[in-house]
Amino acid sequence: TEQLLDVENLTVEFKSSGTTMKAVNGVNLQLNKKETLGIVGESGSGKSVTATALMRLIPTPPGKITDGKIHFNGRDLLQLSEKGMRGIRGNEISMIFQDPITSLNPVLTVGNQIVEVIRAHEKLSKKEANMKAVEMLKMVGIPEPEKRLKMYPHEFSGGMRQRVMIAIALACNPKLLIADEPTTALDVTVQAQILDLMKKLQQEHDTAIIMITHDLGVVWELCDKVNVMYAGRTVESTTTKQLYESSLHPYTWGLLESQITMDTHGQQRLPAIPGSPPDLTMPINGCPFAARCPLATDLCHTTVPELVEVRDQHFVACHLQSKEQIIPRKEGIFNA
Ligand code: SF4
Ligand code: MG
Repeated sequence: TEQLLDVENLTVEFKSSGTTMKAVNGVNLQLNKKETLGIVGESGSGKSVTATALMRLIPTPPGKITDGKIHFNGRDLLQLSEKGMRGIRGNEISMIFQDPITSLNPVLTVGNQIVEVIRAHEKLSKKEANMKAVEMLKMVGIPEPEKRLKMYPHEFSGGMRQRVMIAIALACNPKLLIADEPTTALDVTVQAQILDLMKKLQQEHDTAIIMITHDLGVVWELCDKVNVMYAGRTVESTTTKQLYESSLHPYTWGLLESQITMDTHGQQRLPAIPGSPPDLTMPINGCPFAARCPLATDLCHTTVPELVEVRDQHFVACHLQSKEQIIPRKEGIFNA
């Protein structure tokens, strides 16, 4: 397997009225070609900011990438000019978001928008681009594509809009697709269809995917490996299989407990971890999860746990876990 992305020590800060918020704090991530990496965590954990930083789309000011390297396909993206970066975005790296309605122009037909994207990337006549757009809608499973191309975004259901966005994102055969909660706004049945579609297209196009989600169910469904983020840091990083079978960070245990089996009504998951994440504008001296962790000791409040490879391909930042001693998951600790 060939490495596509290697992010080292990514740090993103936002400054406003005298305070500095460390939204992303020394994050590392690695992704091979054709692989899918999940980034999972609650809202505010830094998942979306990480994704936005990878595209170099952090609004500056107030935001700034203050440290790190983003090696992508042989280049450090942080060293590229803005012009160089524009050549990467939408060509080599594409992104899709939770709510496609905001990424589509409401006054242009879907067909016009797709044709515009196609022609920005390929020298094709209007007619040829139109034919390609029809092909693309077919590829993402939109029925009657010729008719659909003449319609406006609001005439599409949420699931159909997300299919359109996936078609646009894949139009230029990107090496990497970053998907930020692409199924969160959709009902459960449509969510499953969109995930199936992404899986199928990934196999056909050999695209690597970074899947940002608060939902471990999405990780089990789609990802090869996963980074769990909390308070702007990676607290656990391993293969999906290993996380599923034997996760090691108490925060991950909390996420697992907050999962409930999806029934036919598409129930919301229960928030199982009492408390809220720390204020990221304040310095954090110990483990960022200490205030919410039922297993916290004195050490946890004074010393930051480093992310350590405690066993093969399994990294965790918790004082309980080490190469010498691994504590298996304890269930029910958050309800005690
Ligand atoms: Fe809990 Fe301490 Fe581990 Fe942090 S380091 S997760 S507070 S046990
Ligand atoms: Mg987000």
